[in-house]
Amino acid sequence: MAELLFRQDPYLKSCEATVVAVHGDSIELDRTVFYPLGGGQAGDTGKIGQWRVLDTRKGPVADQVLHVLEPGANLTTGSKVETQLDWERRHRLMRLHTALHLLGAVVKAPVTGGRINDDKAHLDFDIEMERLVKDAIEARLNELVKTGVQTRPMWITDAELDARPELVKTMSVAPPRGEGRVRLLEIPGIDLQACGGTHVANTAEIGTLKVVRIRSEGKRNKRVTLELA
Ligand SMILES: [Zn+2]
Repeated sequence: MAELLFRQDPYLKSCEATVVAVHGDSIELDRTVFYPLGGGQAGDTGKIGQWRVLDTRKGPVADQVLHVLEPGANLTTGSKVETQLDWERRHRLMRLHTALHLLGAVVKAPVTGGRINDDKAHLDFDIEMERLVKDAIEARLNELVKTGVQTRPMWITDAELDARPELVKTMSVAPPRGEGRVRLLEIPGIDLQACGGTHVANTAEIGTLKVVRIRSEGKRNKRVTLELA
């Protein structure tokens, strides 16, 4: 189990840490700024010591983070290391992730899935195709970006979440539970939902968005894909 520094401060770009376990190409640290693939958001890349981190994944145990190192990397348990995120990439992930919260508020329909990569992101909706108008969605998204609303993370208990099922917006993504509490992201006046990902502090930081594609992925999945302009 690692201390997940990105949960308290998603803007941390580096930290010192100690290697606590080595599993083949992957290592665990006692604390980390690396977000592991989850909730639809891609895992972080960067450097640990002199070695490239190619991907970050969750382990089978709660709060276990596996940093996947380049082939040939040679780190041993107990080593003290300096870690460094690919910050530009992570910041794009944070901007696109926060953009999906806006998209989920603009398109009023159940969300059936989603994915955030560093070059584009999408949500899938259970909605009729005719109700998805590209130019209207893009215009509304960019209005919300320009409003410059501060985002607000907060925590509630698992029991409180069970009492408010409307906070779980994405049917295919289980909310991040652990230690009996769940993290929420509020974008006041726009969105409130359970989410363990990394977000920007203010919607203005997202910058201009483009709706690049709206496509049917099946009867209950209509996919809206965004890119940063
Ligand atoms: Zn989120």
